[in-house]
Parts: sequence; C-alpha cells; structure tokens
Amino acid sequence: MRLVVVGAGGRMGRALTRAVTDAAGADVAAAIEQEGSPFLGQDAGELAGVGALNVPVTDDPLSAFAKADGVLDFTAPKASIWFAELAAQARIVHVIGTTGWTPEEETPLRAAARHARIIKSGNMSLGVNLLASLVRKAAAALDADFDIEVLEMHHKHKVDAPSGTALLLGEAAAEGRGIDLQTHSVRSRDGIMDPRKTGDIGFATLRGGSVIGEHSVIFAGEGERIELTHRAEDRQLFARGAVKAALWGFDQKPGFYSMADVLGLDT
Ligand code: NAP
Repeated sequence: MRLVVVGAGGRMGRALTRAVTDAAGADVAAAIEQEGSPFLGQDAGELAGVGALNVPVTDDPLSAFAKADGVLDFTAPKASIWFAELAAQARIVHVIGTTGWTPEEETPLRAAARHARIIKSGNMSLGVNLLASLVRKAAAALDADFDIEVLEMHHKHKVDAPSGTALLLGEAAAEGRGIDLQTHSVRSRDGIMDPRKTGDIGFATLRGGSVIGEHSVIFAGEGERIELTHRAEDRQLFARGAVKAALWGFDQKPGFYSMADVLGLDT
C-alpha cells in the first residue's frame, strides 16, 4: 500500500515514517509539510532516522495523493479537513490521528467520507481502545452515585486540552451511562464553584516533561473508588496503530470509521 505521511517533520510524522518502513505491505510514497516548512526538500527517511528513502518532503499534497492508496495524518484540524477533501477527490484511505476538534469541524469530514475511507481516532493504540470498551461497560454497570472523572497527563508541547484520548474515554463513559457528554461535562475548575453535580463527567489536565500519554478514568463512589489506567510508553505505538488502520481501510467501502472498527472491539 502506497502511503503519504503528512506533517512528516512532526513528532508523530517521523514515528509514522518509521512505522511504515517497518510494516510488511506498505511503503512511504510521499511526505508532506506545509509551505515554508524548514523540512521541505529533506529526505523523510533521514528525518525519521531510518536512512534515506529517496522521498523528499514536499508541499504538494494534491499530486502526492493522486499516486497513493492512503494518507497518514497527525497534524492539526484545519489541515486534516483539507487533506480529507483531497483524499475524497482521490478516493483513497485517510487515517486521521489529529486531535483538538470542535464538533463543527467534524462536519466536513463526514462529507468527505462519502468518497474517502476515513478512519479517525483520538488514540490509535489497542490498549486505549480496549480501555474505552471497559469504561463503557463500567459506566453502564455503576449508577450515577459513582462520580466519573477523567485525568490525563502529556508532554509540555501538547497544545489541545483535554486530550483527544480523554474525550474519547469521556464519550465512552457517557455512552455507557446513556447521557450526552456535551451537556454533562466539566472541562475545568477554578475558584469557588457550586458543588459537583451528580451525573457530570469531569476532566483534569496535567502537562509537563516528555510524558507520551497517561489516562485514568476514576469512578468515585461512597467509600470506594475504581480506577482504570493506560500508560503509553512509546509514541511508535500510535504510529503502528495508524498503519494497521490504513491497511485495514484498503478493503473497506467509503465511510467514516473508528479504531474500534479496525480492532473489531464491540462498542
Ligand atoms: P507536531 O510535532 O507539532 O507535528 C505536527 C506536524 O504537522 C508539524 O510538522 C506541522 O508543521 C505539520 N502540519 C501542520 N499543518 C500542516 C499542513 N497544513 N500541511 C502539512 N503539514 C502540516 O505534533 P505531534 O506531537 O506530532 O502531534 C500531532 C497531532 O497528533 C496532535 O493533534 C496530537 O494530539 C495528535 N496525536 C494523536 C495520537 C493518536 O493516537 N490519535 C497520538 C499522538 C498524537 P508546522 O510545525 O509547520 O506547523
């Protein structure tokens, strides 16, 4: 499968190039950064530390997508929307790991999924998707006397909060409880506030150092607490998941898919 890595100079972009190089049945067909990027012209393999691949980084996604079977995209929402439109025109697979979406920004992705095979997830690891499935079950089994809080920590460079994974876990908890996350979430707390409302799902964010990603979902009841935790130790984990998603997407019909679909987890 010929795969384009967009955002090839970024932390995840480099990890994606390494993962494609390691995968059987996939090649790096092109590498893209935006106009003005210092990485333009550099070899994607050299950037990723896997030796020259003869794939220079360009700012021309249109011609890259025309010759490819799929795109691996961990960039920014505005860029991912544009890439989804191009992937729809080229009728190829678009794996989106980008986080920090508003609900309105997701609308054009659904339109693009009429022609592209879009697989989008705030976390591409097996562990977190399994965790989401466990959280859904726990939230369904426990009543609203158990307060649900999602705690996450990431490296100091991360710009969006709460993380895409924290929101994915919050969604799983809300689904399990049969409520709408939008109207039942508390995204930050500061100063003197009303006491916690029964049924809300709270989020807390920590940032610092080089932490790849840690998430806990806490079910706090009277006199007991259940904590479900995932710790990512290497961002290569997400890149391998993204390549797996692309290979899975190759045989699918156009549509909008999640990592749970790729991994065959019940939701
Ligand atoms: P990063 O190091 O900042 O990399 C993002 C790259 O995308 C940068 O090189 C950036 O270039 C490039 N980019 C932005 N707009 C572009 C455009 N229009 N065309 C081409 N390239 C563009 O960030 P990161 O740590 O790799 O994370 C990237 C995203 O992946 C974040 O949203 C993060 O939360 C998410 N993520 C998801 C998972 C998952 O499993 N789903 C796991 C880890 C991270 P500039 O520097 O020039 O802007």
